[in-house]
Amino acid sequence: MTDQFDFATEYAPAPESTDHIQIEDQYSLFINGEFVKPESGKYFSTHNPATGEKLSEVAKADSADVDKAVKAARKAYDSTWSKMKPKERGKYIFRISRMLQERSREFAIIETMDGGKPIRESRDVDIPLASAHFFYYAGWADKLEYAFPGRKARPLGVAGQIIPWNFPLLMAAWKLAPALACGNTIVLKPAETTPLTAMKLAELIQEADLPPGVVNIVTGAGKTGSEIVSHPDINKVAFTGSTAVGKIIQKSMAGSQKKYTLELGGKAAHIIFDDAAINQAVEGIVNGIFFNQGHVCCAGSRLYVQEGVAEEVMSKLKHRMDTLIVGSPLDKNTDIGAINSKMQLDKIKELVQSGRDEAGIIYQPDCNLPKNGYFYKPTLISNVSQSHRVVQEEIFGPVLPIQTFRTIDEVIEKANNTPYGLSGGVWTDKGAKIFKITQKIRAGIMWANTFNKFDPASPFGGYKESGMGREGGLHGLYPYVELV
Ligand code: NDP
Repeated sequence: MTDQFDFATEYAPAPESTDHIQIEDQYSLFINGEFVKPESGKYFSTHNPATGEKLSEVAKADSADVDKAVKAARKAYDSTWSKMKPKERGKYIFRISRMLQERSREFAIIETMDGGKPIRESRDVDIPLASAHFFYYAGWADKLEYAFPGRKARPLGVAGQIIPWNFPLLMAAWKLAPALACGNTIVLKPAETTPLTAMKLAELIQEADLPPGVVNIVTGAGKTGSEIVSHPDINKVAFTGSTAVGKIIQKSMAGSQKKYTLELGGKAAHIIFDDAAINQAVEGIVNGIFFNQGHVCCAGSRLYVQEGVAEEVMSKLKHRMDTLIVGSPLDKNTDIGAINSKMQLDKIKELVQSGRDEAGIIYQPDCNLPKNGYFYKPTLISNVSQSHRVVQEEIFGPVLPIQTFRTIDEVIEKANNTPYGLSGGVWTDKGAKIFKITQKIRAGIMWANTFNKFDPASPFGGYKESGMGREGGLHGLYPYVELV
């Protein structure tokens, strides 16, 4: 050990123990409060992307299973959940929040094993925020008359909810909590590569004694998602995922009575003015693009630096990138964990190659990547322009194209030159610049002198091809009610 490990410059390994984690060999579908086998009898495997190790098998739901789940949700809606006193509904949601807190370590470890994100992030961000979401919306359950003064808020019925792999439990919480608080029942589908925390949540919901059928969780691939979307007895579709799939869903909704919200991709401009606190801004850039391996829809994935400080920012950023630890997601020192799947890794490699082919200059630190699993070095691409694919397309990985600008009007124009409109960030000493930038940039979320900060009370969502509707805060209640 000592001859391989340099104690002077490296951190000693600090792996999180997985001894107390219970993962079943096989998970069936969670329908009507029970775990039931899929009609087809088919299961598929879920793996740890950092090691390749098989973790478990989950059921593949087909149309018959989705139909069963929707029927259970409808029955629960009609017979119990929509009739229950709002205060009682709130108590169940508070209970889920509390139980998640109590079991946060277990959930964090499983999230990291199934998805590849660093344990520090699942422990300090994903799980506490998921619990906070349930806590926040539990509080709204019996106060809807204050959310919509002078109006009566009625639940919609059965909500079909489809979530991606980048924040599996957190996205489940974003979807479930407001829907439940407003009195709807649910059929939820987690992503194919990260189903485990959703299945653990099913166990927790069973323990919390939620009436059967109020929450149903069906696993499967995209086909299962489309069965939910097209089911005639679904009243509301809530989708988070890629813009490509969002467009397919939106087309299929045309002419139907279903309400829908779409949380899609992004390509946020992260803007550094020459009067910014540069050291803090560099930390903000790092957090903006390397958090969760860059698998973040609102990541600061296009960097714009004012010319006068471009050299300083580049040099400090490279220095900071050299210190980032890429490695086992279960190690508490790790900054950048595993890429979620081979498919995503291939996509990142292909896009970086396009940057190289288009004369981009690539910078990557000189670090070693683990031999097994899917890993990618933090990457900076300079010498690019607005038309480059790496500037236009969502890479969804730890890759940052950097450009410079001279004036505020120039950077506003560049920032808005994208099909997306989800988020953005600005670093400056001047409040006036912050106000101008935040007013002129068409993005649902803007951060000033910080980045990637989330709170259940704050609405989240995009413009343009980043989707429609808001999740979080008071705004997040609206998509789950009919106002009369
Ligand atoms: P996808 O759109 O491929 O998948 C999202 C979910 O939809 C998954 O559960 C997927 O199933 C399912 N799905 C796939 N095809 C269909 C279909 N035809 N009908 C219904 N459901 C379907 O996205 P990713 O999972 O690859 O997630 C990454 C993308 O999500 C990125 O582009 C990112 O920007 C975006 N995203 C947006 C967020 C936001 O809030 N705006 C937040 C997080 C991510 P399966 O994966 O099992 O095949």
